[in-house]
Amino acid sequence: MATYNKVSPEIIEEFKKITPNRVYSGSEINEDYTHDEMPIYGTGLPEVVIEALTTEEVSEIIKICNKHLIPVVPRGAGTGLVGGAVCINGGVLLSTVKMNKILGYDLENFVVTVEAGLLLNDLAEDVTKKGLLYPPDPGEKFATLGGNVATNAGGMRAVKYGTTRDYVRAMTVVLPTGEITKLGATVSKTSSGYSLLNLLIGSEGTLGIITELTLKIIPQPKEIISLIIPYVSLDECIATVPKFLANHLDPQALEFMEREIVISSEKYVGKAVFPQQFDGKEIGAYLLVTFDGESEEAIYEIIEKATEIVLESGALDVIVADTPVKKRDAWAARGSFLEAITADTKLLDECDVVVPVSEIANYLKFVNSLENDYGFKIKSFGHAGDGNLHIYTCSNDMQLDIFKEKVDEFMKVIYKRASDVGGLISGEHGIGHGKVEYLADFVGPVNIKLMQDIKKLFDPNLILNPGKVCYKL
Ligand SMILES: Cc1cc2nc3c(=O)[nH]c(=O)nc-3n(C[C@H](O)[C@H](O)[C@H](O)COP(=O)(O)OP(=O)(O)OC[C@H]3O[C@@H](n4cnc5c(N)ncnc54)[C@H](O)[C@@H]3O)c2cc1C
Repeated sequence: MATYNKVSPEIIEEFKKITPNRVYSGSEINEDYTHDEMPIYGTGLPEVVIEALTTEEVSEIIKICNKHLIPVVPRGAGTGLVGGAVCINGGVLLSTVKMNKILGYDLENFVVTVEAGLLLNDLAEDVTKKGLLYPPDPGEKFATLGGNVATNAGGMRAVKYGTTRDYVRAMTVVLPTGEITKLGATVSKTSSGYSLLNLLIGSEGTLGIITELTLKIIPQPKEIISLIIPYVSLDECIATVPKFLANHLDPQALEFMEREIVISSEKYVGKAVFPQQFDGKEIGAYLLVTFDGESEEAIYEIIEKATEIVLESGALDVIVADTPVKKRDAWAARGSFLEAITADTKLLDECDVVVPVSEIANYLKFVNSLENDYGFKIKSFGHAGDGNLHIYTCSNDMQLDIFKEKVDEFMKVIYKRASDVGGLISGEHGIGHGKVEYLADFVGPVNIKLMQDIKKLFDPNLILNPGKVCYKL
């Protein structure tokens, strides 16, 4: 177990020489920095917050921390959901948010190079103006690209286009020793030794601090249409999902959602788009599907086929959102699920399992069958097209310690079932601090030891984001 030192006033002075006017301590530190978007995993007060502007500054700061055995936690926008960017051991919170420039496009090779603190939303807007698309589309658009890469963020379009990992060509990284290195290249294929680039992607700020990224972009699809597909039951709704894939319909996004969560989210955004009844039948669940294509004819052909398949599979109706306003309204409720649940709930925890698509229906049936056993409500939604399920445990009347104990019991049961059906603990949010103790049950002792050995090789003094991913403090 590593022991760490406190940040002394002398060390603060050393930091100030490197990043003048961008070192904050004591009462200058904003409360927002003590947690991410899932504070149930605990808060942590950084001793110092530093906003870096360059790779060289990051390197100089981290050299000091390594020399004095001070923990350093890299942080983007702090929108993570597993406590990854929280200083659970004090130390330095190193923020990248001011490293937010687009450094340049290489349109012959379809890549863009950015600083790691650039927001996803800002890149998405800029590429759109150029008729291009950066396909990864996680729900939170105000996260940084460095955070997206560090967590291998997924999101809505993963079913067709893959996750963030598939769009990272190269990066500049500062290692925990302060060394600066470049991983990957603009090239589109490689068999050039171990992929350190891929090791860094999804490493959640435990192996290095990413300062620059070269990301793949693609031409924007010409036509995009969304469908809202209501069902009486969640079972029928989920059972349709593998048919989209088996029939090569290639949806860009394929999300499922239950009635209750849609109603509370529409109330939260103040606009109702999803029908609640059809032909006197109460709607219990929905699919929200998006297709893209190169021409109107091609996309309508897909929609015709999709309509036939879903109506044969028990769907009550198919509502087409084919104008920008209709599409925006259809996705607005989906985009606000987490905020809507948070607004309605005092105690909240989340699980982000990913199971094979063929197992989603049975898995959710199992999870929902547990609702009366633990004393909290279970709400779920997720990326049906890739089996990534967001299962929320919610209570307004339990005591915090009892809630945590019951959630832990529940998580162990549902994680065991996910593992038994061939799933994994996290599809996109990561392990951070909140899920550390569950990872070993999924990957086994040999793989945990490999992960810990890799961590020690990169970070011999264990100063970088300690207590996250594979090391429990
Ligand atoms: C409403 C809402 C919706 C969301 N929807 C999705 C979704 O659909 N899909 C999804 O995958 N996630 C989703 N998330 C989670 C979150 O937005 C992502 O995990 C995102 O990638 C975090 O980026 P960030 O900049 O906020 O990183 P932070 O929260 O600041 O950090 C996250 C992790 O990355 C590390 N890190 C950050 N920057 C760097 C860097 N430059 N170098 C090295 N490590 C770094 C941190 O140490 C930490 O471990 C959602 C969150 C919210 C609140």
